[in-house]
Amino acid sequence: MRARENPQPILFPPERSEALARLAAFVPNAGRRYAAERNRDPGPGLRDNVSMLSPYIRHRVLTEHEVLASVMRQHSPQAAEKFIQEVFWRTYWKGWLQMRPQVWQAFLEERDADRERLERSSDLRAAVACAEDGRTGIDGFDDWARELVQMGYLHNHTRMWFASIWIFTLRLPWSLGADFFLRHLLDADPASNTLGWRWVAGIQTPGKTYLARPDNIEQYTGTRYRPKGLASRAQPIRNETPPPPAPLQPAATRPPDRPFILLMHGDDFSAHELIPPGAGIRAALVTAGGHPDHPWPFGQCATRFVASLAADTADRLNRDGSPNVHVLDALQADSLRWHC
Ligand SMILES: Cc1cc2nc3c(=O)[nH]c(=O)nc-3n(C[C@H](O)[C@H](O)[C@H](O)COP(=O)(O)OP(=O)(O)OC[C@H]3O[C@@H](n4cnc5c(N)ncnc54)[C@H](O)[C@@H]3O)c2cc1C
Repeated sequence: MRARENPQPILFPPERSEALARLAAFVPNAGRRYAAERNRDPGPGLRDNVSMLSPYIRHRVLTEHEVLASVMRQHSPQAAEKFIQEVFWRTYWKGWLQMRPQVWQAFLEERDADRERLERSSDLRAAVACAEDGRTGIDGFDDWARELVQMGYLHNHTRMWFASIWIFTLRLPWSLGADFFLRHLLDADPASNTLGWRWVAGIQTPGKTYLARPDNIEQYTGTRYRPKGLASRAQPIRNETPPPPAPLQPAATRPPDRPFILLMHGDDFSAHELIPPGAGIRAALVTAGGHPDHPWPFGQCATRFVASLAADTADRLNRDGSPNVHVLDALQADSLRWHC
């Protein structure tokens, strides 16, 4: 008889209860220890120096507010300063891109043009496939490429090293690297990802690039890796002045006075918390995916993750006594426009 294989534990169980348990376990480490240790990447299964909450925060299964409130109950603002700053980076990048939507559009156009170059150039195709499959022979990089595909997560410092090696050592188009991340990260986010890659490439902050160095990688991976042959210089890949911010539409601060339907989606599975008790909510619709005209989430793992989070959100709303909760895919949501 064949021995039963032990299934691998799921790294990011798609449930709010699991996210809350992870937050509670991390909070004691969110103070000075986080500030001192957060740049270390000790490797899969050993990362209690960072929260590993990003897939939950990205889809707002946990809100930034509740994460920081939990941290502030155990730490002073001074002790938790670094962690607070990192959570605010996400919010800052979101706002930055929201006020400059043309930067996202430009990324999509550049990515599509680079995908067409891939079709035409067998050399480029082979080089990108080699990097994505983890067959470059570069110490560290190959493991990180495989880890990204298998786990849907990379440590922040590792994302910086990976992007830098992709751009400056392998000299591959940055937009295809950003696309590789989008297709595999469970926390894939247009703002944090695009602007993180632009920052490494020297497009986001004029004149500034990020160069991955072997001694830094060796130090912060606990001597697991010391890659040879990395680029020793990182020139910005182009000069570009970021566009000025466009004014935002004022957000609705309260729900309508008449009965309404709440539509929730994977950008914010906590939207119902903005609705005060007693408001005229008739039904809650939780969409399990993106619109076919605007494919989202970008990768298969994130798609399954978001669909499971949608089901979990609907269960929670049902348990909380919300009326008429439905999970639906985006096509159904589209057709509802005509039936309601
Ligand atoms: C090239 C590149 C691409 C990235 N792509 C994404 C992405 O698609 N989605 C995403 O959520 N983050 C992205 N990041 C930011 C960061 O790497 C991840 O948020 C972080 O690694 C998540 O791990 P954690 O939850 O353990 O982080 P922690 O160190 O525990 O940080 C706590 C939280 O703060 C936020 N945060 C931390 N660092 C950053 C940062 N540099 N920028 C924005 N928010 C941050 C996240 O919500 C994170 O969960 C990217 C960074 C780089 C350099």
